[in-house]
Amino acid sequence: MALAIVTGSSRGIGEATAIKLAEDGFDVLVNYSGNQERAEAVVAKIEALGQKAIAVKANVSDAEEVKEMVRIAIETFGSIDVVVNNAGITRDNLTMRMKSEDFDDVIATNLKGVFNVVQSVTRQMLKQRSGVIINMSSVVGALGNAGQANYVASKAGVEGLTKTFAREFASRGVRVNAVAPGFIVSDMTDKLGADLVEGMKQQIPLGTLGEVNDIAEAVSFLASNKAKYITGQTLHVNGGMFMN
Ligand code: NAP
Repeated sequence: MALAIVTGSSRGIGEATAIKLAEDGFDVLVNYSGNQERAEAVVAKIEALGQKAIAVKANVSDAEEVKEMVRIAIETFGSIDVVVNNAGITRDNLTMRMKSEDFDDVIATNLKGVFNVVQSVTRQMLKQRSGVIINMSSVVGALGNAGQANYVASKAGVEGLTKTFAREFASRGVRVNAVAPGFIVSDMTDKLGADLVEGMKQQIPLGTLGEVNDIAEAVSFLASNKAKYITGQTLHVNGGMFMN
């Protein structure tokens, strides 16, 4: 029995990743912050695949709630094999207009949230002498993006954390990588007008937005033994809109 914790897996990329990891044979802890009904629906989909799953409410920006989630994970499953730090929020505005609390909220969830989860699972993974951590970044962490100072800072920070954790934990058999999605069809893009989506497509050499499963497949690869020699990297999945 191997467990994957996927933060923010009640919908979107997190849901697709949780289901893909269940298809790969993992049991899954489905974390969410507000929407229990959707989290329970993801649990039901995973159970239908024959894997064990539980939904655990925890705000990743709250270190105590994260510790309790990790305690439940160890008590229920006995080990923590994969952690996907996917939970993320946006509070977009131009720098001139961005409220201080909107900057702080995004950093607290997207950046400190990753630190909280990693700090809490480290003892268990180092004891096991194995584990894989995958942090969700974004293409804008490398490119910058007008109107997203808070979000871009959080994602650039996530990539810095990823390299640091990779160096700290490598000798104990724990790999740490990031996945940086480009424009992915999601609740967010569904709300944008057709013109805006057309403009986005024109920035993408492959000519189309990505799908949540494109990201889930990248996470699945990094979580697997096929990626056993990869650590400290950011895997960009963006249809070619950014090449490094
Ligand atoms: P989404 O559809 O908005 O879903 C966000 C998920 O995170 C939900 O399950 C939500 O749970 C959870 N969440 C939010 N705040 C949380 C918190 N404080 N603690 C625990 N869970 C929390 O997001 P998405 O578009 O799939 O994006 C997922 C990740 O990919 C994010 O890190 C995002 O920055 C990154 N990304 C997305 C895109 C894109 O185009 N969609 C592009 C680049 C990067 P509740 O439902 O309970 O609130």
